[in-house]
Amino acid sequence: MSTKDYLEKDYYAVLGVPKSATGEDIKKAYRKLARKYHPDANQGDTQTEEKFKEVSEAYDVLSDTKRRKEYDEARTLFGSGVGGYTGAGGQRGGFNFDFGDLFSGSGSGQGQQPGAGDRLGDLFGGLFNRGGGATRTATQRPRRGQDIESEVTLSFSEAVDGTTVSLRLTSSSACTACGGTGAKAGTTPRVCPTCEGTGAASRNLGNFAFSEPCRDCRGRGLLVDDPCPVCEGSGRGKSTRTIQARIPAGVGDAQRIRLKGKGAPGENGGPAGDLYVQVHVKPHAVFGRSGENLTINVPVTFPEAALGAEIKVPTLRGMPVTLRIPEGTPNGRTFRVRGRGAARKDGTKGDLLVTVQVAVPQDLDDKARAALEEFRNATEGADLREELIKQSRSE
Ligand SMILES: [Zn+2]
Ligand SMILES: [Zn+2]
Repeated sequence: MSTKDYLEKDYYAVLGVPKSATGEDIKKAYRKLARKYHPDANQGDTQTEEKFKEVSEAYDVLSDTKRRKEYDEARTLFGSGVGGYTGAGGQRGGFNFDFGDLFSGSGSGQGQQPGAGDRLGDLFGGLFNRGGGATRTATQRPRRGQDIESEVTLSFSEAVDGTTVSLRLTSSSACTACGGTGAKAGTTPRVCPTCEGTGAASRNLGNFAFSEPCRDCRGRGLLVDDPCPVCEGSGRGKSTRTIQARIPAGVGDAQRIRLKGKGAPGENGGPAGDLYVQVHVKPHAVFGRSGENLTINVPVTFPEAALGAEIKVPTLRGMPVTLRIPEGTPNGRTFRVRGRGAARKDGTKGDLLVTVQVAVPQDLDDKARAALEEFRNATEGADLREELIKQSRSE
């Protein structure tokens, strides 16, 4: 039984019963007609033989509650009671759309909005896959899932070392209440009479015909009389899922990373979309980032800078390391501690850049003051600023 059969044949009329007929009515009507047209009673009469087949076919469908329901739904969907469908084949009044177009999703150059055909296809797939619908193939075309955008805020250490985060992803999908039809559960959309289900309307401007989305159905090809209360007739729903996403080591603030295949799942065996994650990194109290290197400012005393020293420098998530600063280290000099930075792509690590800042004592006890005065006396000589003043006057 094909979809087309369902739409073209009026089984109620064949059996001569109203659409509201009970199972018992149908059985009675069938028995009467079957006796009348039975081949045994009409030897060699091909017309009655044909009639018998029709009656049997009608009874097959209408006597099966499930198939009768499908049949009724199909005809409701396409505006039942269209008399043009009762005669098999030939010219039909009412609709003349092409089923191939309707199911292909391509619109075949009729200006159908992308996806409208697919939605119809999905709808029909659900409706007819049990009945052996003839047009399933087009709806099973693999489709790649959507790309999804998300964002995450990481601690400084998580960004440096990499981490796994749980991301709640919201993607749009078919409304679960109405299965994407936009029609209230238990009702079905009907084909838009204006565009006859194509979703496209053509407008003539002088010698040119333009195709544009049908205004009555907004390019959908279907009209919903009784909208689904959940999605307000849009047919679109939101689905939320939580995924575990691996954030690679070494990501920086404001970086956007792509996680291949973590987007919306594909349909009909198509590949999943990608997930794009916008990364925010919280600043650290002590460390900074400069690409693959970490930075830190470390205070040193004047004697340490002047005489040289071995100082302890903290590292991110590790024991402090000892850094040797040489005699005569100026304020603001940066030293490099190899391999204590952020992870690089190849698994090795950047460096820790240590900048020394000479601290000036704020409170001096008598002993320290006396020592400094002695130091001043010992280093008295040329004025440090003499050269500067001389240069400032040169031009
Ligand atoms: Zn809905
Ligand atoms: Zn329309």
